[in-house]
Amino acid sequence: MSGAASTSGPESLDDDLAPRLTPRQALAESSRCLYCYDAPCVRACPTGIDIPTFIRRIANETPTGAAHTILSENIFGGTCARVCPTEVLCEQACVMNGGEQRPIAIGRLQRYATDALMEEVRESGAHPFTRAPSTGKKVAVVGAGPAGLACAHRLAMLGHEVAVYEAKSKAGGLNEYGIAAYKMVQDFARKEAKFVLGIGGIKIHFGKALGRGVSLADLSVKYDAVFLGVGLGGARGLGIPGEKLKGVDDAVDFIERLRQGKTVGFPKVGKRVVVIGGGNTAIDAAIQSKLLGAAEVVMAYRRGPDQMSATGYEQQLAKSSGVVVRDWLAPRKIKGAGGKVTGIDFVRTKLDAKGKLVETKEVVTIACDMVLKAVGQTLLEEQLAGLTLKDGKVVVGKNYQTSLKGIFAGGDCTKTGQDLTVQAVQDGKLAAHAIDQYLKG
Ligand code: SF4
Repeated sequence: MSGAASTSGPESLDDDLAPRLTPRQALAESSRCLYCYDAPCVRACPTGIDIPTFIRRIANETPTGAAHTILSENIFGGTCARVCPTEVLCEQACVMNGGEQRPIAIGRLQRYATDALMEEVRESGAHPFTRAPSTGKKVAVVGAGPAGLACAHRLAMLGHEVAVYEAKSKAGGLNEYGIAAYKMVQDFARKEAKFVLGIGGIKIHFGKALGRGVSLADLSVKYDAVFLGVGLGGARGLGIPGEKLKGVDDAVDFIERLRQGKTVGFPKVGKRVVVIGGGNTAIDAAIQSKLLGAAEVVMAYRRGPDQMSATGYEQQLAKSSGVVVRDWLAPRKIKGAGGKVTGIDFVRTKLDAKGKLVETKEVVTIACDMVLKAVGQTLLEEQLAGLTLKDGKVVVGKNYQTSLKGIFAGGDCTKTGQDLTVQAVQDGKLAAHAIDQYLKG
């Protein structure tokens, strides 16, 4: 068994990249842990899970106890076990690295424990966390993604009544709509959202977003506090000619259609696909294109591999799935014929003596019939009128308070830490405690 998931790519759209460990594997792996004092793996976890304690509980053959330790800090421990880049977080920090040793497979042990607990809860119907006596306070949460639901869950634990407003028809946010199927197979995101909401005291209003059915002003009047856990709903464009050609698509939309494929039909994929970007959305779109049957998939990035936000492990996964990764290429023009995309012109880039990215005169043309843009997303600012924004994000203080009294924010719409699901969960949890303090005056 490898430390992290295998670097050989998924073989089908339903392939589970890092399947659940067997009890025997989990026992053997957990027994390798040194249960370090002041463990570096804990410091590397954005949610501060007590990793040595949960691993010891697995070694003592109490996986549901281990899951309780995990979920006390990170209620989305099941998703994070699957999608966290553990290779640059807890597992990179593990003291077992180096020499002949490999790090403890923390992510896979976390999945083993959380899966066991969720199964037990599904059978018994008993939620492992209880609500405090009612405070009589009402809080609105906007967005049912990881930040919003983590906040709602913690607020419910603290005895507050919560109303969640979600633009889409399902809860889970990026967990439900934005994670490649090979990382989270089947309907895990739906089951996990149901589990999180199982604590009670949380009501969800679907099909409602700021500017569509609710407004920030109304929520501030109706509720004692508001938490904004909205995602980045606007796709960033390339700003080059040809973006409107048929065959040019946004990678996030492509992944969403694929994940929701059972109801709306699988997206068509081109024969020759170029994915533009260097983050994990680009990696996911490229790998999924290959799995859908594209003959050639090129991932083009304007900087080098060290600057990609996708980790080395993810880059390796793409390569072993048959994706050709081409660095130092900045898109200049999407070419077409008869309204359809036929290729892209890039200019080659390089770093100058001062380390600044500059363009050379060399033009590189890649023929293709599909272009997927994965160059980031932006906040739909018009919905957030009245709040102070900076660099396209909501400005918050240390206690997650925005510039408006009683309105808090966290997750993707703010700039509080790394752009990761686990960070969004931590934001939601800590914001719930800050709201609790605010409500207590
Ligand atoms: Fe176990 Fe590694 Fe964490 Fe130490 S650093 S407690 S060995 S997982």
